Amino acid sequence: MNTRNAYALRVRAAALGGQQHATRGVPFGLGTPAAVMQGRPAPASGFVAAVDQVDCADTGIVRPHPLADRATNARLARCEESVKGRFDAIVPTLKALSGLQHEQDFAERAQAMIEERLGHRLPDNILNDAWVAGLDLKALYAHCVFAAVTAAAAQFSQDLKNQIELVQDTNNFFLDCGFHAVDISPCADGRLKGLMRYILRLPLTSFTRRKAYAGALFDVETDVRHWGETELRRFREGVPTTPEASTRYLKVAIYHYSTSAPRQEGCAAHGSDDNKAIEAALERLYQFRNAIENAYCCGASTDLLLIGVDTDTDAIKLHVPDANGNLSAHRFVDNASLFTETLHLSADQAHLAVHEALRKASQTGGWGQGQGEPHDGMRRLIVNLLINNLSQIEYVRDLHGGRYADIGHAERYINVGDDLKEMQMRNVAYYAHLHTLEEGVADMDVGIKIFSGLNVKHGLPAPVAIHYRYDARVPGARERATAKARRVRDALHARYAELHAQGLLVCHLSVQDLPTGSPIETIETLNGMKT
Ligand SMILES: [Zn+2]
Repeated sequence: MNTRNAYALRVRAAALGGQQHATRGVPFGLGTPAAVMQGRPAPASGFVAAVDQVDCADTGIVRPHPLADRATNARLARCEESVKGRFDAIVPTLKALSGLQHEQDFAERAQAMIEERLGHRLPDNILNDAWVAGLDLKALYAHCVFAAVTAAAAQFSQDLKNQIELVQDTNNFFLDCGFHAVDISPCADGRLKGLMRYILRLPLTSFTRRKAYAGALFDVETDVRHWGETELRRFREGVPTTPEASTRYLKVAIYHYSTSAPRQEGCAAHGSDDNKAIEAALERLYQFRNAIENAYCCGASTDLLLIGVDTDTDAIKLHVPDANGNLSAHRFVDNASLFTETLHLSADQAHLAVHEALRKASQTGGWGQGQGEPHDGMRRLIVNLLINNLSQIEYVRDLHGGRYADIGHAERYINVGDDLKEMQMRNVAYYAHLHTLEEGVADMDVGIKIFSGLNVKHGLPAPVAIHYRYDARVPGARERATAKARRVRDALHARYAELHAQGLLVCHLSVQDLPTGSPIETIETLNGMKT
């Protein structure tokens, strides 16, 4: 990460007093600072301009985008630095530790070093046994990775608790746009792990559901069931809207591509073929809508949206539905181009340009020809998502020179089972959603293959965090989730027996109550040790 620019972002944000001008009139650039949420006035534009000039002179940073939410960018930069810093410090620290293992009072010195550099302790038994067979660095590495995961999840959870007003405002915004639920299915690729928080700047709310699948190939039956639960709640409880309200259920599929290495670093599930990724996502979206139409005769109450993400720059391609809610691979707004085209405009002009880009996309002819513009609420949502993503393009430009250095896989661990959904950051985790290994074995094999390249070939284990959510209101749910985690762990040990025997597959088992931000409860860690 370009820490110099990260520092510059922080200085700039501090100079702005935790406020930013870009969110005026832009509903919920998610991660919007509390000051703005509380309705404090935005700084005068002259002040903003003065700060910009100082920054440009001091750091050589090019002029920021007029709609970029710089205060949130600074906050997200701090978060990325601290979370990835935790993971990145592990190997150098263990190398230093390895050099000490034959010293007197090694165990005490090791604990002191780990506490100072990584902020946690190591299992005493591994340190005490080091004099016999040498230090088990594989086990220690896995232990440190899981400690970093737990600490980062706690940090994210705390941050979520600080966003309560923001979440409410986002829910109100969705309702204003005419949506009572937003169900998002991205690809499970670790480079999309920061989708909500960074790329789209949408907080986790009671309205939003995010479930990742390899290739964004979401399970239609599961989603129809979720649709049914959502609609039943409206009928029985009038939450979040009553059945008479003409609000809709929005289903969003997210595919991805790489502009730097389109044939190598695109979606692995579709052989890095962008057209296949788009067609497959469109097919699932239409299957979902048809399933509801056929089973409940109310397809009109669902809306569809398709978004592509360039995982090298985080810029999105937003496919614009037509007046009938139909999508096309060829009708979209390319936000990377929009960013460049609007960079030198005033904030007001840039706002207009975003609306104009949407209108132009709707008028696409030829293969992308549609039947008019989407409804008003959908247009407002699209404009918002585009503006939110402009901030993220600026973020990548400022902190990573416009393009990530790690355009390929650089995940730190494999997340198996339920999503550790509080962890929202690019390239932190590869995710395999499964309740039994059989159902998710293809995803799991891909994960192990990725980690064979990242870790195993360097002698480091693949750290696998097996995680399940349970509903504390349901009697026995925690025990069942715990048993399921152990069952999946045993199945993983059996399938990847060779890796397991060599200590190159290490599992960590945890469960968590349903509400977002609940503490992660570790069941078992290293080698089956209970904690
Ligand atoms: Zn993918």
